[in-house]
Amino acid sequence: MVLSLSELDIRDYLSGKNDAALFAEADKVRREMFGDAVYLRGILEFSNYCRRNCRYCGLRRDNREIQHYRLTVDEILDGVAEIAGNGLKTVVLQTGEDPFYSAREIARIITAIKSRYEIAVTLSLGEHSREAYRLWREAGADRYLLRIETFNRVNYARVRPQRVWEKRLECLATLRDLDYEIGSGIMVGLPGDQFEDIVTAVRELTQLQLHMIGTGPFIAHPNTPFAGQPSGNIDLTLRVYALLRILNPLANIPSTSAMESAAPGGRLRGLQVGANVIMPSFTPWRVRELYNIYPGKNIQQDIDDGLSSALAMIARAGYRASFARGDSPLKDNEKVKIENEKLLVK
Ligand code: SAH
Ligand code: SF4
Repeated sequence: MVLSLSELDIRDYLSGKNDAALFAEADKVRREMFGDAVYLRGILEFSNYCRRNCRYCGLRRDNREIQHYRLTVDEILDGVAEIAGNGLKTVVLQTGEDPFYSAREIARIITAIKSRYEIAVTLSLGEHSREAYRLWREAGADRYLLRIETFNRVNYARVRPQRVWEKRLECLATLRDLDYEIGSGIMVGLPGDQFEDIVTAVRELTQLQLHMIGTGPFIAHPNTPFAGQPSGNIDLTLRVYALLRILNPLANIPSTSAMESAAPGGRLRGLQVGANVIMPSFTPWRVRELYNIYPGKNIQQDIDDGLSSALAMIARAGYRASFARGDSPLKDNEKVKIENEKLLVK
């Protein structure tokens, strides 16, 4: 069965009119492109300080309940040693936007990692200057994750005070220009977003021709202005995954830990509808639960985000954990990109 994905179809599929066909097609495309491999990325969250005040996020500046932490350079390098020691070929360094680490210091950390290990470095450190992005790229960083969060420009300005949607897009353009593999995505069910915004997101994320697409449901955090809001719907999020897989056959798509917070088994289901990446946490146990972007994240007794549970889950889902670097097959394949564009009937 071939799905033609006009905008009307995207709307129909997102409303759950044909989940069985949609999910089967997404898994078929995923297997054609990646076989049964699930790439592993070890994530190290090295600071929970943030200068921003995103209304949805537990790390926001105005959340006075946070017990803060920062890892030292040695602790970061120890974490990377553990990731490399376990045979993973990608480390993801993520934080709030923490000015404590200068751009040069981050560059030195990247240089140290690249001199010690054959490992891809992915950064997820928020919005920074072109100069900082360039320094990090020159130090050897390979990839950058920066979610656009929503395609509703007005809502974006509301949920990210003092931030502008176009600036986020500009950061992504800068990162692409600097030859990073770039990743972006949205939160499904962000308060203030409408169903139509998700339709737009599926279309516009595809037009961005991303190497990586990271998406998950919104989860309300009690110490934010969105406390008590409903979480993003897991079924809708699964449909977003499936559509993005079909429209972006070669993108690396993680099944994110927010999937698990929204519904037990959610991450496994993400793998079954197109996702091909899992990012186990290697943040030291001492601080792991303090990286509390949303409730349930990184809490041991609730959800084990670590490597062993990831390996068990991948096997249970019927896939094979891959320790390959899993670089984007899209990067050097302009032709595929053009074919991919054609799939999206306007
Ligand atoms: N500070 C960086 C990286 C850390 S935040 C940045 O903002 O880019 C990483 C991601 O967590 C964000 O992009 C956002 O999509 C997600 N996130 C934040 N709050 C969330 C919530 N309440 N529910 C689900 N995801 C959330
Ligand atoms: Fe900071 Fe990122 Fe959270 Fe916004 S989403 S408050 S930038 S950590």
